[in-house]
Amino acid sequence: MDLLSATLPTPLQELSNAEIEGAGIRLYIKRDDLIHPTVSGNKWRKLKYSLLEAKATNKQVILTFGGAYSNHLYATAAAGNALGIRTIGVVRGLDFAERETPTLQFCREQGMQLHFVSREIYRLRHSEEYLADIASEFGDPFMIPEGGTTALALKGISEMVDEVSGQLGQMPHYFATAAGTGGTAAGILSAKADVLAFSALKGGEFLNDDIKNLLAGETQPGKLTLFTEYHFGGYAKWNEELLRFMESFKNQFEIQLEQVYTAKMFFGLFDLIRKGYFAKGSVVVAVHTGGLQGLLRN
Ligand SMILES: *Cc1c(COP(=O)(O)O)cnc(C)c1O
Repeated sequence: MDLLSATLPTPLQELSNAEIEGAGIRLYIKRDDLIHPTVSGNKWRKLKYSLLEAKATNKQVILTFGGAYSNHLYATAAAGNALGIRTIGVVRGLDFAERETPTLQFCREQGMQLHFVSREIYRLRHSEEYLADIASEFGDPFMIPEGGTTALALKGISEMVDEVSGQLGQMPHYFATAAGTGGTAAGILSAKADVLAFSALKGGEFLNDDIKNLLAGETQPGKLTLFTEYHFGGYAKWNEELLRFMESFKNQFEIQLEQVYTAKMFFGLFDLIRKGYFAKGSVVVAVHTGGLQGLLRN
């Protein structure tokens, strides 16, 4: 994927402080935030094989779905622009047509055509009938579901796991990742690694089923442990405590997180460390899934 000029493998950095040492564990961060300036983090991994497939099947247009703050829309718009493929974004909420977010403005600047639909219509985004309608409306585009979460996405994510085990010289005892659609967690599990997933949404219990469904074709996937209580009020919500945590993380490790996904995951992870969740000697790799363009700008 030279068109997207990714920097692979992304660095694996060890994090150390008194809490981590006190727990007797080793904690690493997989710097997928450094993978590409605009197609960042897990979105690059998840889109890779879909984009190659779109190219290989000579599709001129990609159509996908997302909210007004969606890192996936952002990444798809940038990737389409880089690859010379037209993109259409189906956006949740008619109201955003009048008050475009910085994410949507960026998408438009990258040449993405935005198609706003009501929240009721957006709920049909997985319905076969609706997808057939929208495909014929837009001239049979290459369709990518919300979050880029497909079987091809799992394959892209599993390459990140291969990089980590190569860099570490072993498979870690746990991967930790933030979860939105659960595609990233499913991809890691498909590579037979165990995952601690931290829901960035309120009511994230649905992720257990969704991830199970994504793994339907896999033999012996890794073990999933889902944490649903670190959502800070819900998707794209946060409070002072989370922002203070982000600040102190940056001061300690010189690594920037963002408030929608990665700060919630690390907040949860350090909470678990303090509560003695991990056996001594555990090796934990937390994935920096990127998303830094969303850093309090939206
Ligand atoms: C989209 C996104 C996630 C969620 O990934 P899923 O595969 O949908 O669970 C996590 N972190 C960041 C930074 C994201 O942009």
